[in-house]
Amino acid sequence: MTTRLLTDTDEAAQILREGGLVAIPTETVFGLAARADNDAAIARLFEAKGRPQDNPLIVHIADTDQLSALCSHVPDYAHQLAATWWPGPLTMVLPAVPEVSRVITAGLDTVGIRIPDHVDTRQILRSVGVPVAAPSANRSGRPSPTTWNAVFDDLDGRIDAVFKSGPTAVGVESTVVDCTRDAPVILRPGGVSLADIQAIHPDARMRMATDDAERSPGTRYRHYQPEARVQWVGPFDGSGSERQSDQASTAGSCAYIGLNTPPEHMAYVRQEVVTSLDAYAQKLFQFFRDCEQAGIREIHCERVTTEGLGLALHDRISRAIG
Ligand code: AMP
Ligand code: MG
Repeated sequence: MTTRLLTDTDEAAQILREGGLVAIPTETVFGLAARADNDAAIARLFEAKGRPQDNPLIVHIADTDQLSALCSHVPDYAHQLAATWWPGPLTMVLPAVPEVSRVITAGLDTVGIRIPDHVDTRQILRSVGVPVAAPSANRSGRPSPTTWNAVFDDLDGRIDAVFKSGPTAVGVESTVVDCTRDAPVILRPGGVSLADIQAIHPDARMRMATDDAERSPGTRYRHYQPEARVQWVGPFDGSGSERQSDQASTAGSCAYIGLNTPPEHMAYVRQEVVTSLDAYAQKLFQFFRDCEQAGIREIHCERVTTEGLGLALHDRISRAIG
């Protein structure tokens, strides 16, 4: 199969309507889209990604009026979350109606739903007219793609088309929130922070290790891993909390990404000093991929606070470390 590069939203929508697979840009990362009501297309999607069957897909919609076709009950706080954060990097897990394919939900009786904040993709979704399932457009286990080139690197020849667009704005995946309980529970941290959700429901909390694992199946898997070895270093913010191991020379074979300039003796072959947590998240996955292509075997990530977007960075980098 030849994978085409598209710039016309109508063409992308047409391929999706006919049951094809199209990688679409969102504000978080590129997604691999297929009609949610087409079992054959969904089966091809799992196949193209090499995704385990027990990891459910997020369903993307154009507008909130499509919610009632997918879920049976939306609690008040979820309506408020949607009003505040949609379109945006927030996925809500809600009780699924029986019509939602249990292949999409990986057998669960809940479905993850969001409205992405990207002008072309919302146009594509409106034009398709039915909800579209779209996990990240990478081979399973790899870092999520934040550029259309990264999608090609992973999926060329395995999908029908890639919609061309600039690098994604947020750079890490959506915050996944379980909205089936009395208060929201974050299953995966992302672009919307715990504090943002607590502003709407004060009892919102992060998932704990004691919560049942099947509520957030994706978190079981090895994830976001480039071929290079990833490890934490620093922070190099003058707090003096560098570890002894960070003092060793890196012998010119490692790369670095972080908020602070690393000490000169670390002698990194490549370094990306970012100006904010937002920029750290936006650049992280492409940095992993660029280092991999440059043959770099080890990537050092500067430790960050777990406040705000820092929690999502912590989660992704920890999982890249494995
Ligand atoms: P991806 O689209 O590749 O970013 O992965 C989707 C994430 O959403 C995974 O971590 C899934 O486990 C999670 N997810 C999707 N649907 C549900 C659901 N019904 N219940 C819990 N987690 C879900
Ligand atoms: Mg993914």
